[in-house]
Amino acid sequence: MALVKMKELLLDAEKRNYGVGAFSVANMEMVMGAIKAAEELDSPVILQVAQVRLPYSPLEIFAPMMVAAAEKAEVPIAVHFDHGTSYECIKESLDLGFTSVMIDASTKPIEENIKLTSQVVELAARYGATVEAEVGQLGMTEDGKGSAMAIYSDPLEVKELYEKARPDAIALSIGNAHGIYKEEPKLNFEVLRKSREAAGVPLVLHGGSGISDEDFKKCIEGGIRKINVATATFMAVEAAARKYSESEKRDYFNLSNMMVLGAYENIKKHILVFGSENKAN
Ligand SMILES: [Zn+2]
Repeated sequence: MALVKMKELLLDAEKRNYGVGAFSVANMEMVMGAIKAAEELDSPVILQVAQVRLPYSPLEIFAPMMVAAAEKAEVPIAVHFDHGTSYECIKESLDLGFTSVMIDASTKPIEENIKLTSQVVELAARYGATVEAEVGQLGMTEDGKGSAMAIYSDPLEVKELYEKARPDAIALSIGNAHGIYKEEPKLNFEVLRKSREAAGVPLVLHGGSGISDEDFKKCIEGGIRKINVATATFMAVEAAARKYSESEKRDYFNLSNMMVLGAYENIKKHILVFGSENKAN
């Protein structure tokens, strides 16, 4: 089955109306937990690492592990570079075998965003890889820092970016945020509806940690096909490590197992909400 292009996964999700989980991973235990959940539920998934996480998970060491895990998996898996802001880093991830990249120029004016996205679309085409772009600004950056003030995606800009730069997927800001929500998120489904009309490609929801199951389902109905989950898995793995410290059998191997299970349980839960189980074929 193995390593596939993200575009293939998103187009099947569009056809059969479900969401594909894009799970951020940072170490071998998280990769193993994600694959275990995907294989058990016969679900396609996306494994991803964000550029801001590279100090913890160096690309040249971690990327080959992600790619190898995808290649050996019994379900289709895309390997994605999340929130790329550097052309060089994006290119490096493609050289290392990633099948998908995100160019995040969402903080720039739309003309600049279109220009940078077009450059990455041209680069990725040489590798046959998928490109995700972003319009609008989420509350908080990927590492949970920055301003909590979100700027909704402007559907007119979504249309302009789609038509001029031709990415394969577009991430939106509809009231979602990275990190932990300070209060219950209120998603603007009108922005989603208009953006879907404006864009001819699958849409992406970032900041999936803390959105209710009901809202996830409404997003999927509204055309969201890729859903990013990072913080919830990091928290589950950290909680598993803390629980380990109370366990009777304390050695590294038990700790490693518990971290795998922490990631596995959180990812499994999300796959079931996104409706991607039994969609591997
Ligand atoms: Zn994000």
